[in-house]
Amino acid sequence: MKRVLVLARTFGKYSNEPLALLQNNGFEIERREKVDADGLKGFEAIVVGVQRITREMLQNSSVKIIAKHGVGVDNIDLEAATELGIPVTVTPNANAVSVAELTIGFIFALSKKLIDLHNNLYQKRQFVSNVGLELHGKILGIVGFGSIGKEVAKRALCLGMRVLVYDPYVEESNLRELGVEKMELDELLRQSDFVSLHVPLNENTRHLIGREKISLMKRTAYLINTARGGVVDEKALAEALKSGQIAGAALDVFDVEPLPADSPFFDCPNVIMTPHVGAHTYEAILRMNMMAAESIVDFFNGKIPKHVVNRDVITKLIEKGFSPQS
Ligand code: NAD
Repeated sequence: MKRVLVLARTFGKYSNEPLALLQNNGFEIERREKVDADGLKGFEAIVVGVQRITREMLQNSSVKIIAKHGVGVDNIDLEAATELGIPVTVTPNANAVSVAELTIGFIFALSKKLIDLHNNLYQKRQFVSNVGLELHGKILGIVGFGSIGKEVAKRALCLGMRVLVYDPYVEESNLRELGVEKMELDELLRQSDFVSLHVPLNENTRHLIGREKISLMKRTAYLINTARGGVVDEKALAEALKSGQIAGAALDVFDVEPLPADSPFFDCPNVIMTPHVGAHTYEAILRMNMMAAESIVDFFNGKIPKHVVNRDVITKLIEKGFSPQS
């Protein structure tokens, strides 16, 4: 019997369907919260959430496929997986709507000062008003126009916002058709009332939004990060929030998670924070669960799984007799 190690906390938590899919295909499932360097030994497949998967862990194991429960693969040593011939699959689009809805929720919360109003009334019993903003006619700058960025744009356009996009890898003509405007990053930062980040974390995007970029933003502007903490220089952002260089921020993701107690964001009254819950809806979780389970089942049935991110491995799989998906 093949053994699957589940490291993603929400895999099979709200529905039995993904577990049944694996069990009915002859897999034995084991669940762990954390693993050390030898922790992957004895498993043929792993379902990974946000845990770090290192070269050493992979080398010490007989893992043949890594199914990422989500799309951000910055926690997995992709180079090592590729060298070892291990396909790493992701679950694209499974959570795009959920993350986009959280982003729009943040835009409403920031512009209407919902959290302050609620805290004043609920915690302090103070029936005080606070003047908010209308979103209609405001400018939203989207950095990274993939699955999530597009879903955010669609919703923002419905609200009557003007949408600017910075994504060097997307054709301008595709953007015009959708009713959004392509722009260089600096100009987008200068013009936007809200800037929302939707890029993957990699060597090109680490600290993409640093001190200098933040200084280009309007004093009345808000920054929203539902991508990865490392995309922003958190120290520079906390300073900008404290000094009033920008109006506020909403953050779902952090460089170090869980957020350490000494994080400078705890001293910023103009920040809204959530504990990395962008993809945490029943609908998105079930979609991610099923896509991850299907990747593993397909792989052991001799099919090249869908959504392999380290594409170089595919040639090796074909050489071994794996068949493409129809
Ligand atoms: P995606 O791959 O569909 O889109 C990413 C987009 O970023 C692509 O269009 C790409 O061209 C663009 N991009 C890459 N490098 C860029 C750069 N240097 N500058 C500007 N654009 C660049 O991914 P997605 O599904 O939209 O997800 C985006 C990110 O959101 C993920 O990588 C992940 O880290 C994060 N995410 C967070 C949560 C959460 O729970 N908060 C959930 C899902 C995804």
